[in-house]
Parts: sequence; C-alpha cells; structure tokens
Amino acid sequence: MTVRPAIEINPAECPFARSLTPAYAVCIVEFSRYDRQMLIPGIGIEGQQRLSEAHVAIVGCGALGCVSADLLARAGVGHITLIDRDIVEWSNLQRQSLFAEADAQQGMPKALAAAARLKAINSQITVRGLVADLLPANSLHLLDVASTHPPNAIVDGSDNFATRFLLNDISISTGIPYLYAGVVGKHATVMPVVPGRGPCLRCLLPELPPPGSTPTCDTAGVLGPIVTIAAAVQTAQALELLLDRSAYVVPGLIELQLNPFHTRTYALSADVGCACCSKRDFSFLSADDAQADATLCGRDAVQIASSGCHSLDLPHITAGLQAHADVQIWPFMLRASFRSQMSELGLPIALTLFRDGRAIVQGTRRLDLARSIYSRFVGG
Ligand SMILES: [Zn+2]
Repeated sequence: MTVRPAIEINPAECPFARSLTPAYAVCIVEFSRYDRQMLIPGIGIEGQQRLSEAHVAIVGCGALGCVSADLLARAGVGHITLIDRDIVEWSNLQRQSLFAEADAQQGMPKALAAAARLKAINSQITVRGLVADLLPANSLHLLDVASTHPPNAIVDGSDNFATRFLLNDISISTGIPYLYAGVVGKHATVMPVVPGRGPCLRCLLPELPPPGSTPTCDTAGVLGPIVTIAAAVQTAQALELLLDRSAYVVPGLIELQLNPFHTRTYALSADVGCACCSKRDFSFLSADDAQADATLCGRDAVQIASSGCHSLDLPHITAGLQAHADVQIWPFMLRASFRSQMSELGLPIALTLFRDGRAIVQGTRRLDLARSIYSRFVGG
C-alpha cells in the first residue's frame, strides 16, 4: 500500500496546524476537507486514514452506482474502481447524478464519464474507470481480486440478477464483503453480504429469477429519490465495513419505499442449505460464459442464448416494452422495434424474444450492447 504524498504546508500559516507536531499537522491538512466527517464518533483521523487506504469496486455506473461513487469519493475512500458496459443516454440524466447533457450528447461510456467526474470532485483519490461487461471469465481480473490491493468491498450498482449472483459468488469465495442494492419504481432493497457473518443473497433468493419475471427500471420506471435513499443506505453500510465497525452493519435485508413512506429491516440468518455460502457451490462464478453468452449471428445481429428452460410470460413483457418500442406478439415469440434505441452502426435496434428466453438483438454487432438491451427490457 503506497501512501499519497501529503500537502506541504508551513504550520505557522495554517490555523489547523498551530501547536501540532509537523507530522500531525500534515495529516490534518491533508484531511481538512473531511473535517465534519471526522467529528463523527468512531471516525476521527484514524478512521479517515483507514478510508484513504481502502479500495472499493463499484459494478455498474447507473443510478445506484453514481450516487454510491459520489458519496464514497467525497468521503475520501482512496481507491475506487468503476466497471460499466454502457454509454450515457439522455434518459439516464433524470437520476444518474454524475452525468451531464454533454456526456449523453457525446455518447460517453459511463465508466469514463463517471471517473472523470469523481477525479474533479476529489483529486486526492485514485479512480479507475473500466468500460467492460463483467462476466464470470473476466470478473476476478477486472475486480483486481488477486492484486496486492484487492477491493475491501464490492458495491452493487448493477441492473440484473445474473451479475448480482456472480458478485455474491465472488464475495463468498474470496471473503470480500458485497453490498447488494436493487431499486425499481418507488421501492428498494439493500443487503450487506459479509462472508462468514449472516446470510448471502442466495440464502434469500436461491435461484436466478426467470427472464421477464421481475420488473426493471426500463419497463416499470423509477423515481430518482428512492435511488438516492437506497444508495445512501448502501454506502453507509459500506463505510461501516471499511471502518471495521461491523456492529453497525445490518445482518439482513433493508426494505425502503416512497409514497407511502415505509422502511423495514429484516434480521436474517444464513440458510444452512444455501448452495453458495453453505455448500460453497460457486456456479455463477465458474459458469461457462458461452452457456449464457451472446454470440454474433448473421449480419448485424447478436443472439442471446436461453439460460434455461423457461416459459416466458410474453404478454407481460410486451406491456413493459410498449413505452419504448412497437411490439408484435405471437404465441411463441415477440418482436420489439425500438423507437429511439440506435446502435453503434447507426441502425435501429430490434429485439426478437422467444418464449424459452432466447433472443436475437438486431442492428448491432456489440455483444455487450445486446446483453444490456436484454437485461433492461427483459430482465433476469
Ligand atoms: Zn447463502
């Protein structure tokens, strides 16, 4: 762990530094921007130093990831890794607080736009923005798990359960805490996963929800304030973990709802039959990417393979798609022609979805874009 060079000051000219030893004065000045935070009992200079040495990986720079990254950077977490596969779109600006109109107009990758913003917010920290699709095969490398400075926590800003189950596997198999959060509509859930203490995500949700069975922000909408509340709770729990104050980390699920306002905390224990944290079957980390992967098929089209034998509720999925696309539906498939989704080829995007979960995304050759379209509009 390398310690950043401190700001050189003349203690005689600095009101913070008078009457302090030179070494302590340097520390105070470097951390003076965190003065109000250090007043909180249990933080102080020692806690701030701990935060400055910490590394947090944020997977997904959407609405949750933006708020969490902003809070962590302003709190002085010294090393932040951002991983995201998407570009900034106009409809993101309602709630994705690190982005501006120019980012959407220029089609900036979210990971790079967010990293640039965080560096402007806090020049004392290091920020790594990775434009990548987190998959089982590349996940440990992208998260720097085997490095000399692996993440002290993984913050979930993703929009799909396949990624969340992968992060849960990584957390339990490596011992790195994982902060789950999910938001849709006016409702959110947050759950800290601390390996060896309390439940993991699969204790609550043993199997991956079938595609189309859960609403997404793209089909059911989302309010900006509930995202901010959920990300704030998620980040507060992450900070307690980084400060090694596990007594304040909730062993269970936190439920949050707006209009009508409602919060509830469910204290939970680990499930002794859990495939992940009890039986240590890390099937989402060891999965062959090809099984659930996207592959080029034909000209300017990507196929998403079915991840299992599903029987999708196509009329329900159609209802969610109709705000964004012209949809035709048959008993065994639907076809959605998006009205404003354009690909890297300048072509309109069309999604053909079969009842077994297989899909073809036409108009693109980008596998990550095809996966993103599937996650956003089909889910799972
Ligand atoms: Zn478990």
